Amino acid sequence: MRVFQGIAVSPGVAIAKAMVVDDKQPKVSRRFISRANVEAELKRLADAMDLVAEQIQTSQDEVATELGDQYGAIFSAHLQMVRDEKLNESLIDSIRYRHYTAEYAVSQSFARYIQFFERVPNPFLRERAGDFRDIEQRLLNVLFGADAKRKLAAKQPSIVIAHDLTPSEMANLDRVNIRGIVTEVGGPGSHSAIVAEALELPAVVGVGSHLREIQTDTTLIIDGHQGRVIVQPDEETILRYENEVEQQRQTKIKLRGLRDLPAVTADGETITLMANIEFPHEADACIERGASGVGLYRTEFLYLGQESEPTEEDHYQVYSKVIRDMQGSPIVIRTLDLGADKIFGDGHPPEQNPFLGLRSIRLSLRNTDQFRRQLRAILRASVLGDVSVMFPLVSTLHELRQAKMLLSDLMEDLEEQSIAFNRDLKVGIMVEVPSSVIMLDRFAQEIDFISIGTNDLVQYTLAVDRNNPDVAPLYNSCDPAVLRLIQMAVDSARKGDIDVTLCGQMGGNPVYTMLLIGMGLRSLSVTPSAIPEIKQICRTVSAQKCRELATRVRDMDNAWEIKRLLRENLRQLFPDDA
Ligand code: PEP
Ligand code: MG
Repeated sequence: MRVFQGIAVSPGVAIAKAMVVDDKQPKVSRRFISRANVEAELKRLADAMDLVAEQIQTSQDEVATELGDQYGAIFSAHLQMVRDEKLNESLIDSIRYRHYTAEYAVSQSFARYIQFFERVPNPFLRERAGDFRDIEQRLLNVLFGADAKRKLAAKQPSIVIAHDLTPSEMANLDRVNIRGIVTEVGGPGSHSAIVAEALELPAVVGVGSHLREIQTDTTLIIDGHQGRVIVQPDEETILRYENEVEQQRQTKIKLRGLRDLPAVTADGETITLMANIEFPHEADACIERGASGVGLYRTEFLYLGQESEPTEEDHYQVYSKVIRDMQGSPIVIRTLDLGADKIFGDGHPPEQNPFLGLRSIRLSLRNTDQFRRQLRAILRASVLGDVSVMFPLVSTLHELRQAKMLLSDLMEDLEEQSIAFNRDLKVGIMVEVPSSVIMLDRFAQEIDFISIGTNDLVQYTLAVDRNNPDVAPLYNSCDPAVLRLIQMAVDSARKGDIDVTLCGQMGGNPVYTMLLIGMGLRSLSVTPSAIPEIKQICRTVSAQKCRELATRVRDMDNAWEIKRLLRENLRQLFPDDA
């Protein structure tokens, strides 16, 4: 039994077999095919070889045109390697006689060449190792790429082991047999983590290169509370975790009883608990958990995992479904938040600093055709229920004004075409960068509401990448600087007489509930599965006690001490659970 520690990003426990699905990094799992599949696998390999040869030829032509023939010639050597008879024979033999998968055959054969060239004394020849690595990577990308287009599916209950999973890969997971996610990289605020939580899959990220030691079909336990991955657990550990799974099931059943009860504190303050969703089918989970509405609909997931761009009608149909399924409760549709780690199709050219680059509202304002399609669909859907529109990552007033201008142009178009829409559609912004908090008094004059997106606010306040496990300890929602900004946002919104909600992951973490109530928040939007637990806290505390806690925290300047105090207060609230 071995235990690996990572970052817990989605709670829950799963016990299942490992399924190694992704090896962008060196190791390819040792997998075999049946005798009957040999010919098909050989064909897969031959097709991949042809495609890679084509890719190399294209690179050669492009480079030769841009820089001259002498540079293009670099690729001739690569082409020769792909066509090398010995290499091809070795690959074919591995598949035909040893029944390796094409991927495993490639990794084994190339490893021999790479090791050989790495050891030769001649520095010129040593460089050939890099060329082999390059071709190996191209081949694996093609072989895995063909797989990646398919849905990530499992034949048995499985825990996915990957170097990384993009939000689009997450969006395409088989929801029947996949029971948990473990990745080598990834940080506490990554969108993949958010999707895992939405799908109620336990997830641990940032485990590091240890994962390469895990083979497909090894028994694993994933502990999404503690961030642990237990490989080949012993009987006693399995029993202990099976007990925990059972306890969680009982707690869930108990909390279900809260569904139709209001989230009112012991001293009578009402807290509105709404839900964050990524996929339309989650409306069912919202109803089941007693959400008062959808406080954040991350519409970009309509794009992720799709081959082609949704039309206006596609948007409209999806919004209509969510509105219908939410049975009249309010829905905040956030416009596309693509870019950074959420890339659709070929995306735009890679950026040096994608999180500081062309993402979110900035991308929408560049790509106005796409943006218009979405806004028109939102406007058309606005007559079907209580709909609001929200722009993500607004960092300047100019961006808000541009977006609102587009919206009012579209309203005029619809009016001319006699298409119904709600002229009083409420407009809000996500507050997720310090500049929007600082300027909130001005923003407030031009919007109806804000939603505080702490996932990004933490990253932009502390200059810490939400996806990077190396800086994960710095990514702290209760850092005093973050808390001051949240307080400023709440106070400015109140002064400006606009509504304020908090929709970052922080809102769904029970550790922060008392503090947020104490800071004056009366509306939270959280992942649907978190609603019952947060509601239970709201119904147990008094707002007065929460205010006292917030006052104490305001005097503190150390994130770890703040967290300790918050944990202690939560423990005191439910002493029996300790
Ligand atoms: C946030 O940044 O807090 C937020 C809710 O938006 P997302 O997580 O989708 O970036
Ligand atoms: Mg955000």
